[in-house]
Amino acid sequence: MLQAASKLLRARVARLLVWALALIPLAAFALGLRAADFQDLAAVLNMLGRLTGVLGLAFLLLSAALSARVPGFDIPFGGLTRLWHTHHLLGAAALALLMAHPLLLAFSAQVHGEGLAFATLFPPLSDIATWSGWVALLMMMIFLAPTFSFFGKPDYERWKRLHKVAVLAVVISLVHTALFSRSLPYWTDLIVWTLFAGMALGAVLWRFVFSRRVGRLPYTVADVRRPANNVVELTLEPRRRPLKYKAGNFVYMTPFDHDLENGHGEEHPYTLSSSPLESNLRMAIKDLGNASRALQSIKTGARVTVEGPYGRFFKTPDRVDKPELWVSGGIGVTPFLARMRHLAALEAGGDIRFIYCVQDEARALYLLELQALAGRIPGCKLVPHYFYREGPLSQTFLRENCGDIDQREAYICGPQPLNRLVQAHLRALSVPRRAIHTEEFELL
Ligand SMILES: Cc1cc2nc3c(=O)[nH]c(=O)nc-3n(C[C@H](O)[C@H](O)[C@H](O)COP(=O)(O)OP(=O)(O)OC[C@H]3O[C@@H](n4cnc5c(N)ncnc54)[C@H](O)[C@@H]3O)c2cc1C
Repeated sequence: MLQAASKLLRARVARLLVWALALIPLAAFALGLRAADFQDLAAVLNMLGRLTGVLGLAFLLLSAALSARVPGFDIPFGGLTRLWHTHHLLGAAALALLMAHPLLLAFSAQVHGEGLAFATLFPPLSDIATWSGWVALLMMMIFLAPTFSFFGKPDYERWKRLHKVAVLAVVISLVHTALFSRSLPYWTDLIVWTLFAGMALGAVLWRFVFSRRVGRLPYTVADVRRPANNVVELTLEPRRRPLKYKAGNFVYMTPFDHDLENGHGEEHPYTLSSSPLESNLRMAIKDLGNASRALQSIKTGARVTVEGPYGRFFKTPDRVDKPELWVSGGIGVTPFLARMRHLAALEAGGDIRFIYCVQDEARALYLLELQALAGRIPGCKLVPHYFYREGPLSQTFLRENCGDIDQREAYICGPQPLNRLVQAHLRALSVPRRAIHTEEFELL
């Protein structure tokens, strides 16, 4: 329990630290404040306009810095999903502040007449400093609108391509700030923005240049198995050094195979279903869209790259220190399959209650192997739950099959509705929030 609490605390501290970094430009801004900034309404509005610009840029650069996806960097945040939640919040805060920034400056000018307010917002085209700000803001709106599902759920690949506009928005907003060169006082202007820009541009360089050269490991598809008609399990053999990872980790896999109908050169996240003790990697891929459908027909010999590992689902992937409850649904079985394969390979045991939610027997992926693995792991009990026969998973079912549920560390991985339902049941059954761990197969 203590370990779970410290993991949750560490993740909170890491997230808080990122937000706290914005205190640096805030402190520098405060250094430059004078009595004149508070002398009347126009001065206060002008000061707030500059402040929203400074904080908005700081959040935008911090959000960009978090997008690097350097393997291991997500661990203190409690996994990549949580890291990206902070990235989204920072982006949203930046957009709100940077939208308020020109309006506050215009309101401040409005005190001296509407003409001045209009000129503040829309100066002559030769005023590159102001217009670069507008261009950066417009770009932010373009790349962030789909993230907030403004136009419905976006197509993932289109969203990703659009998100690259963020790089331009960052560069142009830095140009805007440099051209005004009075966002922060004295020498702090140069130091603070160089530091923040360095973090953001370093992250972008890692993501789009270095990670492709040094972060991706080459593998070959050595075997293709079909555990169900819409799921394929690939075995990947390393062509150079093998990836080091923990049970429950996921990777970004990119196939390079022109025979694929879709997804050539596209990276997608998949959980490794193999034990880290195996010399090859395995991953089970369900047909959930264009790229994953095309992978159903990938052939042995195809070349892929693997980048990672990411995620931090299990607290102690190699052992079971205290009683655990696992709940999986659909393809969400993959992290549990990996951990069972790993515990069996280690000949380790532990008090595990695994509620395996499926629609019916015909759709129970890996059921025979999971039953065999449960037989090899002392203390592990597999309990299938059949939706078509038993209805939605209920608190009664959980209580009947796991009497000491509030004493267990709970891990959930499945479709979002199941994740939410099980979390609500566990909270109602007095399982503390810090003992509930979820993995989501959607990062948007
Ligand atoms: C941490 C994690 C682990 C996963 N593990 C597995 C697994 O073991 N087995 C499995 O079958 N599936 C897994 N997935 C889901 C898998 O990544 C998606 O099914 C796949 O990317 C869908 O791509 P598509 O082009 O086929 O479908 P699309 O129609 O393009 O996408 C369907 C949905 O999948 C998500 N998605 C698509 N591409 C990405 C991407 N590059 N990054 C993040 N999300 C994306 C989006 O939410 C999207 O709406 C995992 C996802 C995550 C985030």
